[in-house]
Amino acid sequence: MSPVRCDSVIVRFGGEIGIKGEWTRRAYEKLLLRNIKKTLDYHRIIYGEIIRERGRFYIKTGMARETAEKLTRVFGVSSASPAIETSSKLEEIIRKGVQLARETFPAETRFAVRCRRTGKHEYSSMDVCRRLGEQILEALKERNLKVDLKKPEIVVNVEIRGERAFLFSETLTGVGGFPLGAQPKLVGLLSGGVDSPVACWLVMKRGCPVTPIYFDNTPFTDETTTERALETAKALFEWAAGFPHIIYVVPHGGNLQIFREKCPEALTCILCKRMMYRVAERIAEREEAEGIVTGESIGEQASQTLQNLRVLDAAVNKCPVHRPLIGFNKQETVDLAKKIGTYEVSIRKAKSCTAVPAKPATRARLKDVEAAEKNLDVEKMVKETLEKTEILEL
Ligand code: ATP
Ligand code: MG
Repeated sequence: MSPVRCDSVIVRFGGEIGIKGEWTRRAYEKLLLRNIKKTLDYHRIIYGEIIRERGRFYIKTGMARETAEKLTRVFGVSSASPAIETSSKLEEIIRKGVQLARETFPAETRFAVRCRRTGKHEYSSMDVCRRLGEQILEALKERNLKVDLKKPEIVVNVEIRGERAFLFSETLTGVGGFPLGAQPKLVGLLSGGVDSPVACWLVMKRGCPVTPIYFDNTPFTDETTTERALETAKALFEWAAGFPHIIYVVPHGGNLQIFREKCPEALTCILCKRMMYRVAERIAEREEAEGIVTGESIGEQASQTLQNLRVLDAAVNKCPVHRPLIGFNKQETVDLAKKIGTYEVSIRKAKSCTAVPAKPATRARLKDVEAAEKNLDVEKMVKETLEKTEILEL
């Protein structure tokens, strides 16, 4: 129920940013402002002045509703409201407030007026609530409105800041977190399935830009699998306007072929993942990333028992492996995937990997896996794989 003439957006970013020490808070605010501007440019939103205040930005724009919507997808933003700016003169606040009610209140609405105020004025916040409430009732008598302070259907909020005031009745919730770039970069193993994009998103929410890596298992998968992975990367990048939108595509089918020829079949998935980790570690080094993110969670697949995860971890030693979904139920991951916009893409039809054995090892032992790898020139495989790796810009 956005009023037609909104000309501003109030962007709030209290939460965790607000409780940081002075220096960090300023640095995060600056980063957040940069990310907001990049997001608006990315979506070709025209905007004017941006006023910075503690815990808030006020953005001047004729595209207020769209701006508020897009900004709920910027990490660090806790909420955004399309608003009408007026001066802080009481008559003007009342005039605009009545207009807002006239344009947006259906008959019989139970409403409340709330006011927050900083600066010196001839009136109190209570005066604003009372006067505006009365005037709305009076001006829209025929609609049979009611003031209801406890359970209003619509709240007219008045936010007064010195000489300026903002009126709004709608607040869109953001995801909070830290502005992207507040923490170092990570590389993300992105398969295109439901889990890995969510895992990447969760670390992005904590401020880490993610460079995705996709392992192309052709001929055990095909172009539908690759296409799906690239599309999920694009969906994820909707949360990273102004950051490089690149993905590493690693040809991995040849490695799988070698495992199948030379190693016990039951270990195929573990050998495959260990090779992925090793390659990812090298890419992380090149990208100056601080670690690897994966979508694994305890017991979610045969390959994801704690014993197996331990064997996977042993493949790398320079780079920690982060698993934000470790304790998630599938439904929790699915719900989040829907919320962040990756789910629809992730469930598209794609060929699943045909190298997966009928009976994959669920409790692999490191010594067996290392014995299997003794038959291979692992270092050479890593090197050759990296040479064939491509970087795509999406
Ligand atoms: P997802 O839903 O993310 O595909 P999954 O539950 O199917 O995960 P696995 O196939 O065992 O689980 O993979 C575990 C993790 O390994 C994935 O979450 C992802 O991070 C990584 N991974 C698996 N396959 C690939 C791939 N082809 N390219 C990049 N990363 C991959
Ligand atoms: Mg999957």
